[in-house]
Amino acid sequence: MSKLKNIAVFTSGGDAPGMNAAVRAVVRTGLFQNIAITGVIGGFEGFINNYFESMQLGSVANIIQRGGTILKTGRCPEFKKAEVRAKVAENIRNQGIDGLICIGGDGSFTGSSLLFEEQGIPIIGIPGTIDNDIHGTDYTIGFDTAVNTAVEAVDRIRDTAASHDRLFIVEVMGRNSGFLALEVGLAAGAEEVFIPEFPVTVDQALEKINRGIKRGKHSSIIITAEGQKPGRAYDLAENIRKKSGFEAKVCILGHIQRGGKPTAQDRNIASQMGAAAVNALVEGKKDLFIGVENNKLTFKPMTESLQQQRKPDKNLLKLIQILSC
Ligand code: ADP
Repeated sequence: MSKLKNIAVFTSGGDAPGMNAAVRAVVRTGLFQNIAITGVIGGFEGFINNYFESMQLGSVANIIQRGGTILKTGRCPEFKKAEVRAKVAENIRNQGIDGLICIGGDGSFTGSSLLFEEQGIPIIGIPGTIDNDIHGTDYTIGFDTAVNTAVEAVDRIRDTAASHDRLFIVEVMGRNSGFLALEVGLAAGAEEVFIPEFPVTVDQALEKINRGIKRGKHSSIIITAEGQKPGRAYDLAENIRKKSGFEAKVCILGHIQRGGKPTAQDRNIASQMGAAAVNALVEGKKDLFIGVENNKLTFKPMTESLQQQRKPDKNLLKLIQILSC
């Protein structure tokens, strides 16, 4: 057992509902073990600017149910420079911090891993992103909430689509990743789903819609991941109009998918991961990330999460297509 004195916790990259529950678990598990906990404000930027705050039991009161992150988050391009990371390590040592817990996505894990490799500062990652795209874990904090938020929105859109006999295209987040679009598509009974990993053509989607019309269906919902170009739903609608004459309505869910109360699942997994991250540092572990597989927590090298992109299950797409025929 190492004698840790001070652990710093920070959130980085895109915010995700449930990050606060993870922060709360880190603070309270650490203080329970008489380890001081430092909150770093604003992700890697906070390390550069010495935005450190001593966390007490009360600092994390009444946050388990809140979306976003009380520690703030951000993107920090300077952190990609080795000399900036060296300065950050100096700031960390000056504060007497001897271990870090990073809550974020794969970009944050890349930066964290470099900080460990170059500067030897022990660091444990907790996957927090609504995209669920981190390799080596079945699940990332925020995904369940984002899926539920988007499904609720699509249900509402379906009411109006059915009343007006309309085709709607709903764009959800996910730049390189279709996890969110797939789960939303299945839960909302979408007719077709466009994701980067397993592309379908506009002709395929139209064939499906036309088959539905023949059997008396009057409204349809297409879900699309934003892909590399947020707003691509408008291009898709234009393409559909040119090919078929159908006037599709577009709804881009955007940032509402990030906010809101975390679901019980997000809070509970975040709480378990936060506590496990502190315990891992206490046991002398370094450069690991906490995942969950088959409902059990896993501990893997952080670099393993970065080796490849996680892909969703293609069978889910097939299922969506069969069930909405
Ligand atoms: P996420 O963690 O949600 O994937 P980003 O990809 O924006 O979000 O990454 C968050 C931060 O992690 C970046 O702003 C940057 O500070 C750091 N980061 C990302 N990629 C690298 C990299 N290749 N080297 C060093 N730091 C990185």
